[in-house]
This record gives sequence, C-alpha cells and structure tokens, in this order.
Amino acid sequence: MASIKLLLANDKVEGIRYYETYRKHGGYTAVEKALNTLSPDEVTEEVKKSGLRGRGGAGFPTGMKWSFLAKPEGISRYLVCNADESEPGTFKDRYLMEFIPHLLIEGMIVSSYALGANTSYIYIRGEYAWIVDILEQAIAEAKQNGFLGKNILGKGYDLEMYVQRGAGAYICGEETALIESLEGKRGNPRIKPPFPAVKGLWGCPTVVNNVETLAAVVPIINMSGDEYAKIGIGRSTGSKLISACGNNNKPGIYEIDMTCSVEEFIYSDEYCGGIPNGKKLKACIPGGSSVPILPANLLLKTAKGETRYMNYESLSDGGFESGSMMGSGGFIVLDEDQCIVRHTMTLARFYNHESCGQCSPCREGTGWMYKILKNIENGHGKMSDIDLLWDIQRKIEGNTICPLGDAAAWPVAAAIRHFRDEFEWHVTNPEECLTRNFGLAHYANELTTV
Ligand code: SF4
Repeated sequence: MASIKLLLANDKVEGIRYYETYRKHGGYTAVEKALNTLSPDEVTEEVKKSGLRGRGGAGFPTGMKWSFLAKPEGISRYLVCNADESEPGTFKDRYLMEFIPHLLIEGMIVSSYALGANTSYIYIRGEYAWIVDILEQAIAEAKQNGFLGKNILGKGYDLEMYVQRGAGAYICGEETALIESLEGKRGNPRIKPPFPAVKGLWGCPTVVNNVETLAAVVPIINMSGDEYAKIGIGRSTGSKLISACGNNNKPGIYEIDMTCSVEEFIYSDEYCGGIPNGKKLKACIPGGSSVPILPANLLLKTAKGETRYMNYESLSDGGFESGSMMGSGGFIVLDEDQCIVRHTMTLARFYNHESCGQCSPCREGTGWMYKILKNIENGHGKMSDIDLLWDIQRKIEGNTICPLGDAAAWPVAAAIRHFRDEFEWHVTNPEECLTRNFGLAHYANELTTV
C-alpha cells in the first residue's frame, strides 16, 4: 500500500510553520483558486464531491453539513474551528496546528468563503497554550500578505480570524458546549434542536468543523473534489491522520490511505513497527478513548473472517457486537500485559470527571461506574457488580443531552463484552488483584486510598 501525503506533504520542511516557507511550497494556492475561479456554492460542491467526512469523530459528511447552514438576509454567519482536541489518545490536530498552522488557516479561509462567513474562530483547548502564539503569529502573517482582512485578493471578500483558548474542559469539544464557552459562558452542551447551523454562535447560523477537516479542504480545492474522492475506498475518501500511542514501537502521527489494513498499520515499519519486546497484541482502541475496545482477534479480522481495514466502514463492521469506530483516529495499542479492568476504570474516572452534570444518567452513572470499577480493580468486587455495570452503561447510552454519556458507556460495554473473564478473575482472585498489577503495585496502593 502506497503511503499518501496530502496534509503532511511538507511537514518536515524547515520553517514550514512560517508564511514565507509555506507559500514557497504551494501555500495559499487553494485560496487563490477558490476566490479567483469558484463561487462559494461551487466550493461547497467540490467539498461534497470529495466525500470528506468530519475528522473530529462523528464522520458526518462535511459538504452536507455546510449545506444545512441557514442563510437569512442580513444575519452574520460564523465558522468555528473545533481545536479542543481532548479525546484521550488523540493528538493529530495538535501536530497540524503546531507545525503547519498555515494549512489550517488556508482551509479556514476557503471554508469561510464557501459559507459566507466574515468572522471565524479557532477554539483551542486550554492545555495547548503554546500553540495559541503560533496560530496568532500565522494569522498575522496571513493578514500582512493579504489573505485575511478586508478585500482579500481584491475580490471584495472580508474575513477576520481569532483564536480563543478554552479552560481545560473535555466537554467543550462538543460543538454546542464549545459555542457556549466561546460566548463566555460555562461550557454546558445545549439541547438540540436548534442545531448550530440554524442558531449557533451569538444566535447566528454557525458551522463547527474539526482542525483536520478544515485542513483537508486545501488539497480538495487544489486537486478537485473528484480527484480527492478517488483516494481511499467507499465512503472513506481521502487521507486520514492517525495518532498512534500505547504499546507500539513507533508512536506518532501518520497520514494513511484508508485502504491500509489494521495489521499493516500495527506491524509494518512504515507505521507502528509492531509491539515492543516481542509481546503479543491484546487489544486496541482504534478511534480515541470513547470508541469500543476490540480484542486482537476482532481487530485484525472482522467476525466474518475478513481483513479489517483502517477506514470508517471496516472498523465499524459488526456494529458494537464485534466492531468499533474510526472515531477521531486516536489509535491506542494494548499489549498482553495490560489490565483491561484497570484500563476501563481509568477511562471511567476520566468521563466522570469531565461530565458537566446537566443530566442525571451521565452525572450519576459515570460516578457509579467508576466506583464499581475501582472496587473490582481493588479486589473488593462481587460477581453481581459486573451485571450492575452492564445495566448502568445501558441506562446512560442514548439517554443524555450530549454524546459524552455514550462516550462513557461504550468503553465499559465493550470491555465487559469482550473481556468478561478478566472482570471475573478480579472478583475471584481478590488477593492477587493488588499484587499482580503488572509492576504497578504503587499505583494499586494509591487506588486503595482514593
Ligand atoms: Fe453534561 Fe454528560 Fe449530559 Fe453531556 S451527557 S450534557 S456531559 S451531563
């Protein structure tokens, strides 16, 4: 499988972070092409033809999302870049913004033009503080060179761009919570409808897109939507950035053609380079912490015995019974030494901490799941706790205002579905729970006091 470089074609070029170098390597030609030769609707049409799907996790078709934007006369529209990349295991947007900030800015200019937005925002997670300066410098450079501000390229199109830093809440990655936060309020998700495309930022029509999604608009315009759609397979067109972490030899950011198999991604030297120390692969979370974990036997092959590929359709083949999701592309590899109960408890603690507390199933359920998992992990669990956990996650899923409830429920459901024997082992071997903890006894001691 040939590697592909659409977004990361120049990421290793020295100085690509700065305007002069970015421009020398073909930067801002998508803005020139869009503003000089295409109408806003034609840009949207190219994005529709490309088949681009949102790269933040949901995978919704981007061109379709844009076409939902309400366009009442005399009302401002906004484009907001969701740079609140907080999903554990996911760090590819950080790389784009830190090393190729002009790619995002260029994509946002073209996208804002298509949407008729004259103001756009990059909402960045609070922990990426140092990237704020990088983005603001790049925005200033783009403005100095006539790609932002008034009358861009003499075409009568005006656009201002601002960076807003969040305060460290995972929930602000949910688009309506992000909008609330951007308006200066507590980042609580809104009840939908109305959707942001009708009533978003400041009550105006708003599109919220992920960093990678907006960056991908640049190659789409440069090469055309039809050409972009030829890359990949099925409804998984173009390239996808994957952040690989956990037990693999080469953690990092990879741009893949979505015809790549999971096995190739894990074991080939071009990507993860296999599992360290000759250990066996135990499981993997292929799309960020909220998607279902898959055991090795269902990761490399589907339940039908077919090769599993790194794309939207293949990763979800089998539904949640035997499949998972592409999600945000945070690829977390677990080797044979990893404890699934501990791992699930860690995630439950995270989602409990990040719940905004508006809805009872999420606020209470995430807390109960964490407490029960902590008991099981500590050797204080009962067999009935496993069924209780299952029952709680089922009562959360689909019963909350925003997807954080589902994100908290799915990892617990998948862990019990595929690794029930490990939960039972913890219950039947309480003494060993604290001593066997795979060299992490100090952490286990800490858990007993939480
Ligand atoms: Fe808040 Fe959780 Fe409800 Fe989302 S699901 S609105 S995070 S309480």
